[in-house]
Amino acid sequence: SQCLAQMVQTDYAMKDYQSEIAPRWCTGCGDTAILTAMQRLCRDEQLPPEKTVCVSGIGCASRLPHYMNAYGFHGIHGRALPIAEGIKIRRPDLNVFVTTGDGDNCSIGAAHWLHAVRYNMNMVVMLHDNQVYGLTKKQASPTSPKGLSTNTTPGGAMLNPLNPLTVTLGISNVSFVAQCVDWIPDLLYETLQMAYRHKGFSFIRILQRCPNFMDHHFDNWMQDPARTRLLTHSNGLRLKPEISRVYKNQETHDPRDMPRALALAALSDEVPVGVLYRNPDVPCYDELRAGERPSTPALVETVLNEEFDKVGI
Ligand code: SF4
Repeated sequence: SQCLAQMVQTDYAMKDYQSEIAPRWCTGCGDTAILTAMQRLCRDEQLPPEKTVCVSGIGCASRLPHYMNAYGFHGIHGRALPIAEGIKIRRPDLNVFVTTGDGDNCSIGAAHWLHAVRYNMNMVVMLHDNQVYGLTKKQASPTSPKGLSTNTTPGGAMLNPLNPLTVTLGISNVSFVAQCVDWIPDLLYETLQMAYRHKGFSFIRILQRCPNFMDHHFDNWMQDPARTRLLTHSNGLRLKPEISRVYKNQETHDPRDMPRALALAALSDEVPVGVLYRNPDVPCYDELRAGERPSTPALVETVLNEEFDKVGI
């Protein structure tokens, strides 16, 4: 009802995207910075809450839709992306955001992730990567560093971590890949805005602090700005002077340069932040489908429409 009341509103403020539910993340959790960036983006792009949907799976990150005053779908583990695709194909006019974690997306949801990149539907996907399962109290996730002691790997994780950036860049039809960190909020916001304005599947990996189970894990990166490489200029990043002064390790990067994007994504001693790859010419499945709709068997289409209408979507 709150959303309906806002249908006539035209000037949205931050508070219009804040739900009545107070965030229950731990003190210092990086998820809070991501939520703030989302609300800032919605305000600056003036996205009507009733035209905005946040979809999630299961995990600490997946609580985010509860804290947004917009439509939301807190789905089942690993299934945020097919839910989001269903919403987008039925209602292409909606702004669709997906929040997922490294366990949710890169383990149980990995098959959906690969195909969602390939389908390149117009949505923003934020991978909150804290490199551990936090909600279930510290098990190794696919991105956990080798040697990390957890409840499932008490002697230390034995495998090298999966790199979500190189995986995403390796899938055909990839159109937007970026990385940022929760502790540089302006950069997080700028990157999120570029992702939103990109037409296609915009994938952002966000390195996210989990002080509860990975305390001080990112301290080396935070305390040594030389280990952060800002990808600037040709990818459109508008940096505040104070950020430019602190993070001197900057690179002018052509976001259509896939070999360079892959090389940056594979860096292990530095964190590249900004847009690694962007290609606006990759066709979106939702648009291809729209063009082919007359060939869809009429009966299936009719039945689906009736079912959707019954539940009001
Ligand atoms: Fe955040 Fe970690 Fe707490 Fe989960 S367990 S809310 S990721 S700090």
